[in-house]
Amino acid sequence: MIPFSGNPLNRASEKRTDAAWVEARRRDPATLIMPMWRLMPFLLGAEKNEPPAELGLFRPGLCESLAAPDAPCVFLGLEDGGIEGGRALFALDISAARDPANEGPLAGFGHFREARASAQLLPPKDAAIMGQAKAMIDWHQRHGFCARCGAATAPLDGGYRRVCGSCNAEHFPRTDPVVIMLATYGDECLVGRGRHFPAGMYSALAGFVEPGECIEEAVRRANAMLDAGADVAFVEAPQTLDEVRAVPKLVKGPCLLNMVWKGKTPEVSIAEAQAMGFRIMIFPGLLFKATMGASDEALAALREQGRHPTPHAEMTIKAAFARVGADEWEPLRERFRDPSLKLAG
Ligand SMILES: [Zn+2]
Repeated sequence: MIPFSGNPLNRASEKRTDAAWVEARRRDPATLIMPMWRLMPFLLGAEKNEPPAELGLFRPGLCESLAAPDAPCVFLGLEDGGIEGGRALFALDISAARDPANEGPLAGFGHFREARASAQLLPPKDAAIMGQAKAMIDWHQRHGFCARCGAATAPLDGGYRRVCGSCNAEHFPRTDPVVIMLATYGDECLVGRGRHFPAGMYSALAGFVEPGECIEEAVRRANAMLDAGADVAFVEAPQTLDEVRAVPKLVKGPCLLNMVWKGKTPEVSIAEAQAMGFRIMIFPGLLFKATMGASDEALAALREQGRHPTPHAEMTIKAAFARVGADEWEPLRERFRDPSLKLAG
């Protein structure tokens, strides 16, 4: 189960533009409101570190006195029961309150807890709803003013749009795309561990998807990865021979260049690459054979030093060729040599 996934609510986006409908739902006695204080959900009962925790959801009229007059109240969606029948859920930002766990209507019912830690204690579906609420309120807190002209913006559409009171620019919540990758090898996978993680916690590797980078930025990121302990960094950006020449001078450790199918990195010979200062080269197919001798020597040296090689190191050369596609490379190259051949893509 991926954390924060599996949100069971019907977001009823076609209804959100109907302000009267949203307001009627917000006042409906059956509706539940999730208070969020400084982006933390309210968990019922005393603080504990073992699941399950219960998310604080309250009838209309209880939490409103804790919120500022212009505090965002986001329509989260409807529970099962069809577009009209299901109970509605809202999230209300009560960050204006001083200490709502100990003062006011919520005092004594529970505690506020950081969202990520809460998600590990809540049932997955509640964690997903809470994640939606947190993301939306966070967006409102950061978008009170127009990015275009600086004037105040006001929420609309149940909290899914803000409009500038001066220039009428519309602002919508955006998600920040992230790549989360799990590098696998046979039955094994590569995971990372942040220094701030609790004991025993590991994660897949992840990063923000970013708009285009220039070579300097790619190099900076590669060096940051090496600083963080990576054995090899990957630089995808070089598109000219000058940039290819610059990379080994700028990157502090072994790096891989563009390996994307139809990538723009210029082709260079082994001798040229070595002259530029590249130390690791990976080639497709038959050229890979040239590196196998070196691999064998390196493994032999490891064995001599008593550093037991991993089971993968026992892979036969034939199996290694099969893994990198060496057997397919020669016929493929022959095909590409045919000038009449039309390549797909
Ligand atoms: Zn504006």
